Amino acid sequence: ATERKALFLFFGGTGDLAYRKLYPSLFNLYKKGNLRSHFAVIGTSRQAMDDDKFREAVRKSLADSGNRADSKEAMDFSSHFYYQAHDVTNTAHYSVLKEAADKLDKKYKLEGNRIFYLSMAPQFFGTIAQDLKSQGLMSTNKDAFNRLVIEKPFGRDYDSAKQLNDALSKSFEEEQIFRIDHYLGKEMIQNIEALRFGNTLVESLWNNRYIDNIQVTLSEKLGVEERASYYDNSGALRDMVQNHIMQIVSLLAMEQPVAFTDTDIRAEKVKALRSLRVYNVADAATNFVRGQYGSINDQPDYRHEDNVPEDSTTETFVAGKLLFDNYRWSGTPFYVRTGKMLADKFTRVDVVFKRPLVDIFAFPQSQNTPLAANVLTIFVEPHAGFSLQLNAKTNDAGFSTEPIKLDYLVDAEKSKETPEPYERLLHDVLKGDGTNFSSWPEVSYAWKFVDQIRRVWDLQEPQFPNYTPHSMGPAAAEELIQRDHREWIYRL
Ligand code: NAD
Repeated sequence: ATERKALFLFFGGTGDLAYRKLYPSLFNLYKKGNLRSHFAVIGTSRQAMDDDKFREAVRKSLADSGNRADSKEAMDFSSHFYYQAHDVTNTAHYSVLKEAADKLDKKYKLEGNRIFYLSMAPQFFGTIAQDLKSQGLMSTNKDAFNRLVIEKPFGRDYDSAKQLNDALSKSFEEEQIFRIDHYLGKEMIQNIEALRFGNTLVESLWNNRYIDNIQVTLSEKLGVEERASYYDNSGALRDMVQNHIMQIVSLLAMEQPVAFTDTDIRAEKVKALRSLRVYNVADAATNFVRGQYGSINDQPDYRHEDNVPEDSTTETFVAGKLLFDNYRWSGTPFYVRTGKMLADKFTRVDVVFKRPLVDIFAFPQSQNTPLAANVLTIFVEPHAGFSLQLNAKTNDAGFSTEPIKLDYLVDAEKSKETPEPYERLLHDVLKGDGTNFSSWPEVSYAWKFVDQIRRVWDLQEPQFPNYTPHSMGPAAAEELIQRDHREWIYRL
C-alpha cells in the first residue's frame, strides 16, 4: 500500500461515530500500510482530557471493534493521537488548535496535508469551515491538500442545504469537500458500476426496451432506538431517500461515464438526476406513500417510543415511484422503499426485465405456467452478491418451464475481508478521490425532488399508525405498485 501523509483533525472526536467507526477504520488503514509513520490525529471536543486518556479511549474503540488493545500495533497507532479541548463556536480556540496542528506537522513531516473531519451536529459546519480559514488552519503550502469531510444530514431541504453549501464554499472549493454517504462505501453499491460497465450482457439490455422496472429496497428491522429526537425531526424521506436512495438510483440510471474517474462519474450522475421528473402536487401525492409503525405485543408504536411526541406525523416508511424523462428510461419506473421496523434488515436492488414478447410455450393445450420475468438482483447487505433468474426447462419427460437462479454470493470468509464503508471512504479522502461522495449538484437535485413530496405531505394529516411491525410496510405501498400491474419482487 502507498503511504499517505496527513494530519487528521476530528471535530466531535469523542462522539459515537468517531469511536465506533472512524478510529477503527483509520486503524485498518494503518495495518494495511496506507498510514505509517507520517500521520497524526487531533481529536477535539468541548470537554477537557489529556492525550493519554484520549489514546486509551481510542484503544478501547479498537478493542470494541475486534482488535487487541494492547498489541504493539495498537500502541504505536494510538501514539499518533492528540487531544485538544476546543469549543467550535469560540473563534479564539482555533488559534490554539493551529499551533498544535503546526507542531504535529513538523514533528511527523506531514508536508502540510490536512483533513478536517466534521463528525458533529451540522448546525456547526458553517462556523467551523469559516474559522478554519480565517484562523489560518488551512495549509498554505501549495503542494499540500486541505480536505473537508462532512457527515449527513446535508440540510433539511433545498434552501437550508444551499445555505450550508454557500457557507462551506467561502472556505473550501467543491473538490475539497467530501460529503459522506456511507452507502457509497458499500462493496455491492460500488459493484453496480462493475456489473453495468464491465458486462456487455448487462449494459446492452440496460434500458427501457428490455427492463420493465427497477426496485430498490432499504429495509430496517429496528425501530428508532436512541436516535428518536433526531429522527422525529427528519423522517424516512429526508433520512434515507434524499441521500442513500437517490445515490443508488443515480448509479443505476446514469449513462456510461467517459472514464472511471470521479469527475466523469459525477457528471453522469448529475445528468441522470437532472432528467428525474420533479413531481407536481398531484403526481407527488399519487407517486409517493408514507407510513408509521404501529405497536405489536408489548412493543410500543412509534408515537410511544422515548423522545417521540404522541402526535408525531413523522414517517418511518416511504415508498415511491421515480420516473426519468430521457431516452434510456422513459416508461421504465424505479420503485423505491425504505422503512423502520420492517420484516428484516437488508438492502437490495431488483432489476425486472420484460417478458419475452411472445410466449411460444403458452399454446392452448399447454399446461405450462406463463414465463416468469428475468430478474437480476443485487444483494447489497447483509449478504453481498448477485442473482439472475432465468427460465429453464424442467428436468423431466414433458415440456414445461420453471424459473431457476444463477447465484453469486460473496462467501463468509471473503466478506470478512471486505473493508468497512468508512475505511474505504477515509482511504478515498486520503487519495483525494471523490467518486464515492455526493457532490453539491447531486445533493441539490435530490433535495429539489424530495422537497416537492414533503410539500404535499405537510399539507395533509396522515392516518398513522398504518403498518404492522415486521411487515413490509403499509398497504399503500402494495397499491402503489399494483396500480401499475406490477409487484414487489421481495415480499413476505
Ligand atoms: P455525538 O453526539 O456522539 O458526538 C458529537 C461530538 O461533538 C461529541 O464529541 C461532542 O463533545 C462534540 N461537540 C458538541 N458540541 C460541541 C462544541 N460546541 N464544540 C466542540 N465539540 C462539540 O454524535 P455522532 O453520533 O458521533 O454523530 C456525529 C455526526 O455524524 C453527526 O452529523 C451525525 O448526524 C453523523 N452521523 C452519525 C452516525 C452514527 O452512527 N453515530 C451515522 C451517520 C451520520
